[in-house]
Amino acid sequence: MSATLEAIQPLADRINALEESSTLAMTKKARELAAQGHAVISLSVGEPDFKTPAHICDAAKKAIDDGFHGYSPVAGYPDLRKAIADKLKRDNNINWKPENIVVSTGAKHSLANVISTLVNPGEEVIIFAPYWVSYSEMVKLAEGHTIVLEGAFDNDFKVTPEQFEAAITDRTKVVMFASPNNPTGSVYTEAELRAIGEVVARHENLYVLADEIYEYINFTDEGHFSIGSIPGIHDRVITVNGVAKGYAMTGWRVGYIGAAKWIADGVEKLQGQVTSGTNSIAQKATVAALNGPMEPTLAMTEAYKRRRDLVVGLLKDIPGFKVNTPTGAFYAFPDISAYYGTSDGTTTINDSDDFSTWLLETAYVATVAGSGFGAPNCLRISTAASDENLVEAVGRIKKAVATLK
Ligand code: PMP
Ligand code: GLU
Repeated sequence: MSATLEAIQPLADRINALEESSTLAMTKKARELAAQGHAVISLSVGEPDFKTPAHICDAAKKAIDDGFHGYSPVAGYPDLRKAIADKLKRDNNINWKPENIVVSTGAKHSLANVISTLVNPGEEVIIFAPYWVSYSEMVKLAEGHTIVLEGAFDNDFKVTPEQFEAAITDRTKVVMFASPNNPTGSVYTEAELRAIGEVVARHENLYVLADEIYEYINFTDEGHFSIGSIPGIHDRVITVNGVAKGYAMTGWRVGYIGAAKWIADGVEKLQGQVTSGTNSIAQKATVAALNGPMEPTLAMTEAYKRRRDLVVGLLKDIPGFKVNTPTGAFYAFPDISAYYGTSDGTTTINDSDDFSTWLLETAYVATVAGSGFGAPNCLRISTAASDENLVEAVGRIKKAVATLK
């Protein structure tokens, strides 16, 4: 008798080779435990705990009433592409016209689109680690070859221009990184980005995929600098951004790129065959976000900064935790490797995955293992939660690790 399809599960090799997103997997596990009645504190998914500002919601309601119910243009409505081009000029000193903008279903979609559009099988993509979990898997899907460069803990988790230049070969097509960074919260300074830009300028076949989704969640005095604003390499930088983080709009699913027209056209062609234009209502809401007041964003950033101070202070009190101070985004990323090889008498902790799973199952605190971010000694803790939950969660972590011997 032949085996059933259920038993064979003939998935495509590319799906069998793909890792599950660890951020989303931990969030799913936390939801399941909560549904079973456990008092789970979820600090796994990186998601603002604020609601979308009212003026943005109002624009969406108006879009529904005004009849924006049909398919939208693949690259986005003209008013949105103009609002994005204006924003890139205003905030980032990047000069792109609306024709250089493509709107997609979240910055994740934008990043995946660009990788698929630029990378041929076997071409190399340099990723600065720690990196966001999905980068390596996007490259894998495109059959590219990932070259991971590690930013040292003692260098604020940042990759140096020397490290970067030494890794470039004649097969290197793209370098990608996020600043402010997920998972470390580190922010590359203007001087650091200019130095990286000089390396890029020396390698004319190299493209930069600059993920700026945490742009507004920046606690430095200097503020945000966009590598795409450097004139000599402007045409080879693809700037990715979106509204999820800065405007608390994760569920609306809007992201975008600003890029040379041939790249934007390639992304539009891909998107036209795979997803079409982004949700029409969310696009109208995004116009209101980008053209509207920034006070709600600034207030959220203030709150994230306060919570950063709170959580970093509490984590530093946990014996064995090595804690860096993030200067942006909403994550803490302690090195917890001092506990590898210890046990609570039942479970032995050998790596960040063990640690994160054990913490969820014993203390009901959901975090994400550093392994998926290319940082196996660390643990990601989202600080986008109420002060009360943050204090309670770190308290539980401290109590739990005290049982490890
Ligand atoms: N880049 C980074 C670094 C992220 O943390 C995230 C997660 N939100 C994204 C991109 C994707 O954002 P979006 O929700 O707009 O898809
Ligand atoms: N970017 C967020 C995170 O890192 C959302 C989850 C995801 O899309 O992976 O947790």
